[in-house]
Amino acid sequence: MEDLNDIYNDIIMEHSMNSYNKKKLENADFCEIGHNPNCGDEITLEIKLNGDKIEDMAFTGHGCAISQASTSIMIDTLKGKTVQEAKEIIKTFIEMIKREITDESELEKLENAICFRNISHMPARVKCALLAWHTLEEMLNKK
Ligand code: ZN
Repeated sequence: MEDLNDIYNDIIMEHSMNSYNKKKLENADFCEIGHNPNCGDEITLEIKLNGDKIEDMAFTGHGCAISQASTSIMIDTLKGKTVQEAKEIIKTFIEMIKREITDESELEKLENAICFRNISHMPARVKCALLAWHTLEEMLNKK
């Protein structure tokens, strides 16, 4: 039986190697740059809204496998959600990384993003995993 951590690693590798979410967005409504100087990760997030719904999202940039995969998986998770839903999922993701989740069922709404759960064991990588989520949170709060 494949270990759960292996499955998580597979998801992260798949997204970091060839992300279909890594592109320029036509007619983006908002754009925000995120930077993690500790590692050299830099991403530009673009978002297209339709009313209150996240119609499309994409990113460009460069950085380590964790930062790139986390950005791509975040986009998959939040596309099609409302801004309010997205904010709640972002909050849950940040709480998961900081190990502040007490109710396990809360994690279900993270979908594949749950694969970053064990990143809290690697303090040097935490900022890489959080970069996209903090960047989007900032963008949604400004809007
Ligand atoms: Zn990094």
